[in-house]
Amino acid sequence: GIDIGGAAVAARLAGPPAGLLKRGAHKFDHGHALVLAGGSGRGGAGRLAARAALRIGAGLVSLAPPPDALAENAAQLEAVMLRTLPDAAALTEWLAGDERINALCLGPGLGTDARAGALLRAALDAGRPTVLDADALTLLSREDAPFALLHEACVLTPHGGEFARLFPDISRTLGEVSAAPPGHDKLSAVREAAARAGCHVLLKGHDTVIAAPSGETWLSSAAYGRAAPWLATAGAGDVLAGLITGLLARGMQPLPAARDASWMHVSAALEFGPGLIAEDLERQVPAVLRALC
Ligand code: AMP
Ligand code: MG
Repeated sequence: GIDIGGAAVAARLAGPPAGLLKRGAHKFDHGHALVLAGGSGRGGAGRLAARAALRIGAGLVSLAPPPDALAENAAQLEAVMLRTLPDAAALTEWLAGDERINALCLGPGLGTDARAGALLRAALDAGRPTVLDADALTLLSREDAPFALLHEACVLTPHGGEFARLFPDISRTLGEVSAAPPGHDKLSAVREAAARAGCHVLLKGHDTVIAAPSGETWLSSAAYGRAAPWLATAGAGDVLAGLITGLLARGMQPLPAARDASWMHVSAALEFGPGLIAEDLERQVPAVLRALC
């Protein structure tokens, strides 16, 4: 990436990812992602995330929806596996017995009830690379000490509203990164949030910013000539969460996983225009990958 923002901010602009595909690999070399999402009436959110994880290259993907949405999801899944997880103890037990689950995604349609809260804690206790989006961020913001639950391999993917609930004081300083050179506000706000949370933070928008707890910061190329405003559509964020999860399952570190997934998310959107729906994004991933090979 090229440096932007000058020495005071020193974020880098994301470019195309490299080295995603390996010859001669078996699906078990490509990780197993577990998506906890997709409750009744919002099942599509979980399926979008799960399919996106599979499309970007996770070897195996399991979707564990809340129990009331099992039948709905069972009727609509093919390559994604369905898993029943009645409670947090079942999750802990599964993770303890299966080291191959190497990426978790909690959020889209997870719910915000007591079961969902217990699942969130159990998932974070496992210490594996984990994307937290949507309902998982809402649950987190209700905790007295949310950041004590997180670990370095977590990736939070809030939009502006979710960010404001988690980091109300930092959010008040937020500006826009739409001009070049970008306003320093958003870059430093996300960096401060990542330092406070002790994990990776990706703040969504037309000017998505990604920061690591180390302070390393990337700006999505979407703010620089790759604008796709039609991404502001239902389910687009769920696809992004799935793409990051898939790259984590492939063994990528959280920062490059978030950065490269976000670059490919915009690339997929640029193949469309107004009228894009989230399913289009997910189906476009193979073409985006092909162009990188
Ligand atoms: P969510 O808010 O979870 O539905 O996620 C929306 C997705 O669309 C995120 O990946 C955002 O970065 C992206 N997005 C939202 N608004 C815009 C916009 N105006 N231009 C480009 N991308 C956007
Ligand atoms: Mg969302």
